[in-house]
Amino acid sequence: MKVSKRAQGVAPSATIAVTARAKELKSQGVDVVGFGAGEPDFDTPDYIKQAAVAALNTGQTKYTAAAGIVELRKAIAAKLEKENGLKYSPEQIVVNIGGKHSVYEAMQAVLDPGDVVILPAPYWVTYPEAIRLAGATPKVVETDRENSYKITPAQIKKALTKKSTMLIINSPNNPGGFTYTPEELADIAKVLEGTNIIVVSDEIYEKLVYGSTKFVSFASLSEDAYSRTLTLNGFSKAFSMTGWRLGYTAGPLEVIKAMGRLQDHMTSNPVTFAQYAAIAALTGPAEQAIEKMRVEFERRAKYMSQRLNSMPGVQCPEPTGAFYCFPDVSAHYGRNINGMQVNNSMDFAKALLEQANVALVPGSPFGCDNNVRLSFACSLEQITKGLDRLEKWLSK
Ligand code: PMP
Repeated sequence: MKVSKRAQGVAPSATIAVTARAKELKSQGVDVVGFGAGEPDFDTPDYIKQAAVAALNTGQTKYTAAAGIVELRKAIAAKLEKENGLKYSPEQIVVNIGGKHSVYEAMQAVLDPGDVVILPAPYWVTYPEAIRLAGATPKVVETDRENSYKITPAQIKKALTKKSTMLIINSPNNPGGFTYTPEELADIAKVLEGTNIIVVSDEIYEKLVYGSTKFVSFASLSEDAYSRTLTLNGFSKAFSMTGWRLGYTAGPLEVIKAMGRLQDHMTSNPVTFAQYAAIAALTGPAEQAIEKMRVEFERRAKYMSQRLNSMPGVQCPEPTGAFYCFPDVSAHYGRNINGMQVNNSMDFAKALLEQANVALVPGSPFGCDNNVRLSFACSLEQITKGLDRLEKWLSK
């Protein structure tokens, strides 16, 4: 059957390609250490599950308003005000079917063909696809390792043209593991003053910051920043609810209404009983579970980045957020390792998986071919085992 040009143009997720090969090896009985995970290795807190069970038992099994039940949008508004210093009315919030859906729908709601989106690399693989699916074009801006891969105001200034419509900020960052400081974000906000640039601020990893890192919402920086920002967030990472498919977008009323109209015809409402669980997540005793997870991730971040940095030809800024290390391994490009030529991040990932049975994600689909991504959403025991193998493999 015919496949649309639109669908043909969508790249398969690169994270999936490596995961599929790792699974294949595992099914053959090979002991593979997987650093590919994009989700916390913690279960959803029990009280959240119980809220979903209670919702099911009380008949919350029917359609709701497409943008989500008002009680949940009120709970999100209260969270954004209390934790992020952001005032949004429930009408300025749309609940989406996962943060990924928030990204897609936001692009569909505001972008037109010919629009250009400033996309700092490294970027999450979904952004360029969602931009292109809206008919717009990503303008990828390369960043420097010395600046932990964060885009600078000068780089943004240089990238701005008449066609620039949007800037994507993702802090804490996937795959970079960095977090912008409040001062850095304020400087970025200043550069945008006087422009019509829309900022998409993807804050899904906000709870996972390490050391003295302080998270701040871009829209909270100034009135100007507030008026140009779509704030995206979700339940997947903070509450270990990846399978529940719940995200949300807050922003100017006209855009949120447009997203609601699109959602009306795309998916209708997010899963009804999951929405009740989300209210529980936001209003219940989640703090302890989140802090326990955060502390554990912090421990792993330190350990993993220290070990990576001690390996020859590997350079890795210590993660300040999310659950990824994103080392530069390009010093090994050009080498022939055990008969396999390693010239780029994909070669590196393939050779490592085949020869040392460690699965990580190449940096090229994130816009940084010098790097590879290792998730530390797995036990310290697995991390140690995988890093031992990587170290030995690199010294061959
Ligand atoms: N934004 C970023 C930067 C992510 O890494 C992810 C998950 N990989 C998401 C959004 C979306 O997550 P979900 O769809 O599970 O809410």
